[in-house]
Amino acid sequence: MTTISTSQERAILDEVPKQLYIGGEWRDGAKGTLAVEDPSTAETLCEVADASVDDARRALDAAVDAGPGFAACAPRERGEILRRAFEAITARADDLALLMTLEMGKPLKESKAEITYGAEFLRWYSEEAVRIEGRYAVAANGQSRLLTMQQPVGPCLLITPWNFPLAMGTRKIGPAIAAGCTMVVKPAGQTPLTMLMLVKILEQSGLPEGVVNLITASSSSEASGPLISDPRLRKMSFTGSTEVGRQLMKQASDNLLRLSMELGGNAPFLVFDDADVDAAVSGAMIAKMRNIGEACTAANRFHVADSVAEEFAEKLAAKMGAMKIGRGTEDDVEVGPLIDAKQRTKVSDLVQDAIGRGAQAVVGGNAREGAGYFYEPTVLTDIPDDAELLTEEIFGPVAPVKGFADEDAAIAAANDTEYGLVAYVFTNDLKRALRVVEGLETGMVGLNQGMVSNASAPFGGIKQSGFGREGGPEGIEEYLETKYVAVNL
Ligand code: NAP
Repeated sequence: MTTISTSQERAILDEVPKQLYIGGEWRDGAKGTLAVEDPSTAETLCEVADASVDDARRALDAAVDAGPGFAACAPRERGEILRRAFEAITARADDLALLMTLEMGKPLKESKAEITYGAEFLRWYSEEAVRIEGRYAVAANGQSRLLTMQQPVGPCLLITPWNFPLAMGTRKIGPAIAAGCTMVVKPAGQTPLTMLMLVKILEQSGLPEGVVNLITASSSSEASGPLISDPRLRKMSFTGSTEVGRQLMKQASDNLLRLSMELGGNAPFLVFDDADVDAAVSGAMIAKMRNIGEACTAANRFHVADSVAEEFAEKLAAKMGAMKIGRGTEDDVEVGPLIDAKQRTKVSDLVQDAIGRGAQAVVGGNAREGAGYFYEPTVLTDIPDDAELLTEEIFGPVAPVKGFADEDAAIAAANDTEYGLVAYVFTNDLKRALRVVEGLETGMVGLNQGMVSNASAPFGGIKQSGFGREGGPEGIEEYLETKYVAVNL
């Protein structure tokens, strides 16, 4: 890999539209602009439009106006728009990955992987657009006929976080377009650039005006509040923290909005004594270090059978300690910066809390001095039961390893959290695998693998990790309403 030049960075930054996209037009924001920062240098990359409440309302107006026309657009045409966008993203993968690395920080290789993953939602749903079906049945009494059809839910508000700047958008936008919905998209203030490029690509792919409207805003609550209470909005899909998800759900209740909530996680990673420890360490590297640990699916706690816990911690520490830290655009870098100073302080505080209560750092344990928000890959052992990082989402490159005595204790420890997004299980015993999987209170399980994300699978959580599913056949159902017709023969 060759280190990216400043001129390549400038070229892709210059190409990004920096305005709001409303009703098929790029427009300035009424509140001026807001800065987007490079987390590896803390320097401003560029400024994007800052939407006012009126801008946000105009975006919803455009989505409402475009609604009936787009609902009537042929499914094949909706699918082909998505397919063209998939092709365009794939053709520009290197440039888009660079843009993502600049605004989010992760190494280029990982950004490229997200481009592939994120684009796949558009391809998957381009194929689903033509498979929206209903049914016809004879009523039980044999007299009337029952007809059901699926129709687009209507104008949607889609709010996305900063950690996966493309994929968190495409896994909402893809099924929404396939279903025939129109929408207002609000990306995270820290990473709007990838989404702005996505919208430009959708526009170039022939998406009719008003179908996707994009607002960037310095105050998310101010811009989205009036939309959430607007009776013309019919659905909100939110990916972000549980705390904000709860607030939005309260706001949405007056309007009885359809909701999808993809919220925080606290994933347990279980390694049993019959597991292949090297395979478990490889899986742990992915589950922990993908996205610098800033993933809702990141393994937050490693519960390892007492007999193999020391071996597992040492092997994991050797691998994590050898990772190269640096700006994501540089050669061979494997660990980029955290998103901002607040996130780095949170990670640092959680590590200090654990150490203060008796945990040992096998490797790492410190923030990196200098520009940017770097934190060393860290493995901790001797974790006390009251360490905060067992219950808090770490969102950084920190792996606490804690032993367990038996299977029941492992399941109990795994479920001892308000969250329920994903768990990882490493065992070579099939009966144990099925027992443990059935006992886990999560929406997803990685069985002998450290990653579950897949555009063709239903991604989502239970408990305080939210509800609704994104990806797979289930993902489009979030954007469809069922209408039943009682037919009198
Ligand atoms: P966040 O602070 O909850 O923000 C998420 C989005 O909501 C951003 O676009 C943010 O805008 C917006 N927002 C914040 N406060 C709002 C309000 N009062 N009203 C309306 N919008 C508001 O989360 P984050 O820090 O960006 O993302 C990290 C969290 O996302 C973690 O907890 C992670 O686990 C979760 N996550 C979950 C999944 C999943 O599928 N379950 C996937 C990825 C991430 P601004 O950025 O402009 O504030």
